[in-house]
Amino acid sequence: MALFGKKEKYIRINPNRSIRSRVERETPEVPDELFAKCPACKHVIYQKDLGPAKICPACSYNFRISAKERLALTIDENSFAELFIGIETSDPLNFPGYKEKIELAREKTGLDEAVLTGTASIKGTKVALAIMDSNFIMASMGTVVGEKITRLFELAIDEKLPVVIFTASGGARMQEGIMSLMQMAKISAAVKRHSNAGLFYLTVLTDPTTGGVTASFAMEGDIILAEPQTLIGFAGRRVIETTVRENLPDDFQKAEFLLEHGFVDAIVKRMDLRDTIGNLVAFHGGHK
Ligand SMILES: [Zn+2]
Repeated sequence: MALFGKKEKYIRINPNRSIRSRVERETPEVPDELFAKCPACKHVIYQKDLGPAKICPACSYNFRISAKERLALTIDENSFAELFIGIETSDPLNFPGYKEKIELAREKTGLDEAVLTGTASIKGTKVALAIMDSNFIMASMGTVVGEKITRLFELAIDEKLPVVIFTASGGARMQEGIMSLMQMAKISAAVKRHSNAGLFYLTVLTDPTTGGVTASFAMEGDIILAEPQTLIGFAGRRVIETTVRENLPDDFQKAEFLLEHGFVDAIVKRMDLRDTIGNLVAFHGGHK
């Protein structure tokens, strides 16, 4: 009995009328940006209900936010002076499609590269601030990201400022090959010079912080904060499972797991971050 055979008489389609055109005509148009589906609890939420901090009202999941949204949540109003823009992205490998990808990311985010850098004040304390944006080629770290963060530390040394960095990254930018990996050492050297000058460095790990960024400046903060449920790791879960041939616990590479094992100092809710950062930079030698 052909249970699964095609019953032609039911599915005969007029060849002049494609399935796509029928679907398009019958589905009411809803702009993508009007609703968001929570990746954690799967609720469909009216975007406006997420509020500026973009937190799921049903389960408190933190949606990923752009660097500019993060800036608005964090700093004192109108205190941001953007620095180190216009550094040209190099394409040492002539990687196919890389320049176009950069252009697209610039248009999409309104940023010149995957990190926003400058000075700002947070609850009255001036800081050197960097915020990575995962919408820009997954905030991967190439030569420009490395250069901007290094210059930020050098400025902070000159002006005796604390440094605050919100990290988010898929890791080193593969399109720039070994030049990307070199940024890990370059930034780490700048972090050390800043530390030798007795200055304070705070990192806030946001979802996801992985790869070469985790293996360098993200984990070099004097104090390391993380948002709840943030993915933090070096290699991906599947790579590790395949290598060690063991199943990993469900919360492996989550902020809560890292806190328990001493890699993170505190997990701070998004709405409390501004107060916490403001208190920490004021307490650890910021200049009013
Ligand atoms: Zn949710």
